[in-house]
Parts: sequence; structure tokens; C-alpha cells
Amino acid sequence: MKYILVTGGVLSGIGKGVIASSTGVLMKSLGYRVTSVKIDPYINIDAGTMSPFEHGEVFVLDDGGEVDLDLGNYERFIDSTLTRDNNITTGKIYNHVIEKERVGGYLGKTVQVVPHICNAIQDWVERVSVIPVDGSNNTPDICIIELGGTVGDIESMPFIEAMRQFQFRVGKGNFCLFHVSLVPTVGKSQELKTKPTQQSVRELRALGLTPDAIFCRSASPLPAHVKEKISLFCHVPEANVISVYDVSNIYRVPLILDPQGVHNIIYSALQLMPRTPKEDAL
Ligand code: ADP
Repeated sequence: MKYILVTGGVLSGIGKGVIASSTGVLMKSLGYRVTSVKIDPYINIDAGTMSPFEHGEVFVLDDGGEVDLDLGNYERFIDSTLTRDNNITTGKIYNHVIEKERVGGYLGKTVQVVPHICNAIQDWVERVSVIPVDGSNNTPDICIIELGGTVGDIESMPFIEAMRQFQFRVGKGNFCLFHVSLVPTVGKSQELKTKPTQQSVRELRALGLTPDAIFCRSASPLPAHVKEKISLFCHVPEANVISVYDVSNIYRVPLILDPQGVHNIIYSALQLMPRTPKEDAL
């Protein structure tokens, strides 16, 4: 099983979900079976009790799971049928660990965030990633894990630490990290500013995760010199700085990732052999 983790920096709502789904579309179009896991670091067990005014509408899955609306994007983009377990929340993880502790499942150990919560997160991701989601009985090849929120938030720390450990659990060549950041335009000159991206990558790396690619949300396509600067300051090759500019319709996002060679970054990081693309798959 190969994993692609999608994290976000600077702000929430910059398009992590859309980029994660679009990456799934690309890999599916290249003949891979794709599944996804959405991590929401809030304490609610699920989105069912959350106000749609605060959090967007709840998405209801075929198994009755009331989950984050991003799972709707995954199902529509990747044409999959996900389960309630494809959405992990802090509430679900703690509930699971506390129930296990109450029945003596930790054999008298002091139950702690490290290792018990972090192990529970990793076990959960591994368990859910192999569930077939495309209507066949075939195990997926690639699992895209989207970590909600912004890197550096207190509430996402156990998940970041779990993913830091996870890259070693699954081994080199099985784990790839995409970091989504914002490149704002400032002032009358409409200058593109890379500092927020530099700082969010620095924060991520301080937590032990190094991105394989940086996806930059901006109002317009990034010029070459901005990509070069991000590459220089953020420790990624220039070809791995991907411009995700504003488009009129989110279904266009896979079409702007494809010509920038996102699949080549994945092939290299996940040691995959290129497959023959399906005709007109995008
Ligand atoms: P996040 O997962 O970071 O919270 P989402 O993927 O849910 O962000 O996207 C937030 C909003 O931005 C959505 O309303 C989505 O439609 C919009 N959006 C995302 N990417 C783009 C893009 N490239 N161009 C225009 N709108 C976008």
C-alpha cells in the first residue's frame, strides 16, 4: 500500500481537499485504485452534530456515516463509496482508546498520546486503507490521507506526530507528502509573497515531516521566478512546486495538476512504474 499525505499551511480552506481529490483523479486515470482517509482534528465524534453554518453541510455516506463534506468531494472525484471509518476525528480516536483502556486492553500501562493515541491513529489508517471502495473486491493501491486544519495547530499535533512515525512504519517508497500553501498577492503591484509558504514548510519540517511537493494556491499561475524562490527556500526541486491557481470550477483542478507532472512526483516518491493512461480518463 502506498500513501500520499496532504497537509496544509498558512490558512484553512485553501483547497487541500480539492487537491487531494484531484490527485486521486490523476492516479485513477493512470490505472491505480485509489482510496482516501480524511482526518478532522476536532473532538466531535463526527460532523453529524455540527452546525452547517459553522462547518459546511454534513455529507451522509451509504453506510449512514455523517462525515465532513470533503468525503463527498472524494466520492465524486474518485467515483468511490467510502465508509464512516474513512473519516477519522480526534473524538473517534480517543473514544476508541478510552473504550480499550476501560476493558483492560492496555494491561496496566499508563495510556498516553505517545505511543497509544499515535499508534491508534496509524493502526486506523492502515486498517481503513485496504478496504475496497470501487465496488470491486480489489484492495486499493494508493491511499490519500488528508489532514484537516493547519500545520502547527495544537489539535492536529497528535496526527502530525502519528504521520511522522507512519513514514517509518510503512517505509521509504511507500509514503509521499504534499503540502498545500498559500501564495498571496499584496498591494497595488500585486506582488506574489512566498514568506507564508516558507514559514509553513519550516514549521512542518521542524515537526519531522519534509514535503515531496508544495502546492501553492494563488490567484493566478505562479511565474517561474516565484517557483524558483519557493524551491530554494523550501528544500524541494523546482519541478515539485505546483501552481494551483484559482479556476472557475473545481473539476478543472486535475487538469492544471496534470501538465505540471504531479504524477511524475508520485512515481518517483512512491517508486511506482508508470502505467498506460486510460484514454480520456481526465
Ligand atoms: P480545505 O480542504 O483546505 O479546507 P477545500 O478543498 O475544501 O479546502 O476548498 C475550500 C474552498 O475553495 C472550496 O469552496 C473550493 O471549492 C474552493 N477551491 C479550492 N481550490 C480551488 C481553486 N483552484 N480555484 C477556485 N476555488 C477553489
